[in-house]
Amino acid sequence: MHSNSISKLLNLKEVTVKKLEQSDSVINVYLETKPKEHVCPCCGLSTSKIHDYRTQKIKHFPINHKEVILILRKRRYVCTCGKRFYEEYSFLTKYMRISKEWPSV
Ligand SMILES: [Zn+2]
Repeated sequence: MHSNSISKLLNLKEVTVKKLEQSDSVINVYLETKPKEHVCPCCGLSTSKIHDYRTQKIKHFPINHKEVILILRKRRYVCTCGKRFYEEYSFLTKYMRISKEWPSV
């Protein structure tokens, strides 16, 4: 499966598919967002200074009888006021909802 088609299939608009790893039973999808300015939730100033990264694994519903794991590289920003915060992913909450409602294959 091509990364473009999986991005479309998963309906991922905010994130880029960096890499795909496929085996007979599992598809690992590596995701990352593009850096952009974020508004600090603490003081309201915008910052684009990256603090660090953390990887989060999200279980997606199966596609073609394969388990799909999203591996998201979450970016953490730091503000001049000292506040550190993660970027937000609206697709994540959507996913959680879909994952729960999706019948297991
Ligand atoms: Zn701030």
